[in-house]
Parts: sequence; C-alpha cells; structure tokens
Amino acid sequence: MSGQLYLLATPIGNLGDLSFRAAEILETVDFVAAEDTRVTLKLLNHLGLKKNMVSYYRHNFEASGQVILTRLLAGESCALVSDAGTPAISDPGEDLVRLCYDHGVAVTSVPGPCAFVSALILSGLPTGRFTFEGFLAMNKKNRRDHLLSLQNETRTMIFYEAPHKLRATLADFCRVFGAERKIALCRELTKRHEEVIRTHLGDAVQRYEALPPKGEFVLVLEGAPAAAPEAFPLADALELVSHYRKQGIPLKAAAKRAAEETGLSKNQLYAAALDLPANRE
Ligand code: SAM
Repeated sequence: MSGQLYLLATPIGNLGDLSFRAAEILETVDFVAAEDTRVTLKLLNHLGLKKNMVSYYRHNFEASGQVILTRLLAGESCALVSDAGTPAISDPGEDLVRLCYDHGVAVTSVPGPCAFVSALILSGLPTGRFTFEGFLAMNKKNRRDHLLSLQNETRTMIFYEAPHKLRATLADFCRVFGAERKIALCRELTKRHEEVIRTHLGDAVQRYEALPPKGEFVLVLEGAPAAAPEAFPLADALELVSHYRKQGIPLKAAAKRAAEETGLSKNQLYAAALDLPANRE
C-alpha cells in the first residue's frame, strides 16, 4: 500500500507557531521534502529531530517530484514543507499534490501559518470576499495584463512581494488603481519587527521613496467601489404590468407586483401605466 503525503505548514517567523501536530508528524514521517533544506534543518534541529530530507523546489520539482512519488508508492510517508508557511501556496507544492492524486497516493494537510491569511486579517480591509494574486510576473507585459485585469476588481486583493521590487510594484499599483486606493503593507509578520502600515497608494509610494523597504511584505489592496446597479428599464417594467393586467390582475396590484420584481417605485409604475392607452378608462 502506498504511503501518505502531509502538506505541513511551518512558522513564517515565530517558531512558537509550529503546531503540536506538525511537530508530531515531522517526528513520525519517513522523510521530509523541503523547499529550502537549510531552513528546514534549523527547524528540525530546534525540535531535536534528525530526518532524511529531499530537496523539492522551483528548479528541481519535476525530477524531485518523481523521486518523492516513487518513495510514497513504495509505502513511505513524507511531509512537504515550504521555506515558510503553508506549502503549495506560491511554491511548486501544487504539482506534487496533483502527482500524488494522479497515482492514488493519499494526501492530507497539517494546517498552520500562512502569510496571506495573517496579512488579510490584520489589514482592516474587508475579509468577506478576497482574491489571492500571489507574486506579480517580472515580465512587463504579463505584469501589466495582470494588473489591468484587476482594474474593476471589487474584492480585497492580496499580493506577495519581495522588498527590492516593492517600490516598482507600488508605483504600478498607483498608476492602475489611483493614489486614493487604500492599502495595508504587512511586513515581517509574526516577527519582532512586525508592522502593518494602513495607508493610501499615493502615500505608500512617497513613504518608500526615502526609505528603502526591508523585510518580507504582503500587500493587501482595497477593492474598487461596487458600481451602482443599473435601474431596471421603465419600458420593460411596464410590459410586466401589462402582462399581469392580461391575467386579470387590477392595475394597482399589477403595478405593485412589478415594482417588487424590478425595484422601481410602485407609484412611479402606477402613474406611468395609467398613461398607457390600454389602461385609460
Ligand atoms: N508558502 C508561504 C505562505 O504560506 O505564505 C509563502 C511563500 S512565498 C514563496 C514567500 C512570500 O510570502 C514572501 O515574499 C512574502 O511576500 C510572504 N511572506 C512570507 N513570510 C512573511 C512574513 N513573515 N511577513 C510578511 N510576508 C511574508
């Protein structure tokens, strides 16, 4: 019988955030697939564990994925851990998950820290509906297309960004979304110098002109205001009134029913319907 893949979340800065279950699974699995083996070695040392490790990251995921799959199919269990946070979020973990499903290997999650979730809940922006956009492309055209596709997005938007690209990204945001759009810059989450700057894009651009950004950032951007719903066309609402009249419903009641269905005013509909030849006495 094949083994099991555990998608295991690790701290994004504060070692105290590793769950009891995560520590337990790390102890019991046969091997650990790590995005950055040096970072994971520190975590394992902290837990007093010596484990077999396989490197699995952006530049080797295809070959390494096959090695991991072979071991899983042979019955071994594996914990996939990313550099920090939840694996398969902005890293190649999603490919390994698919590979396992394709070959009938069981996959389960050991949930825990995730930078974008912490940033969203700290942002003070609406959390009811949001979209996770990950990293913007380096390629200028792909980057511009990505941002333009979000121009009318009304949900809160979340981006990952490296500090050395932050100024360029804020300038692009400002051009596409306008200087007044609200943003929360969430920096060094769960670490000693954690900071959440809640401001507007115009201010964010100015702030980092003088002060080069340092540390890890998640950017949480306010959505566009929802467009006012278009009023239901009066002519169509009047047709609805006529439709009810043909069913023998009195004019006042027909106007009331059509008003409820279209959102138009009952009195406005009644007055307009009275002007129609069919409704004149
Ligand atoms: N898998 C990770 C997760 O669960 O969030 C994200 C991995 S992604 C390769 C790395 C990015 O996550 C960083 O560039 C940064 O945008 C964000 N990030 C990770 N740790 C962070 C922290 N402590 N504070 C702010 N952002 C962080």
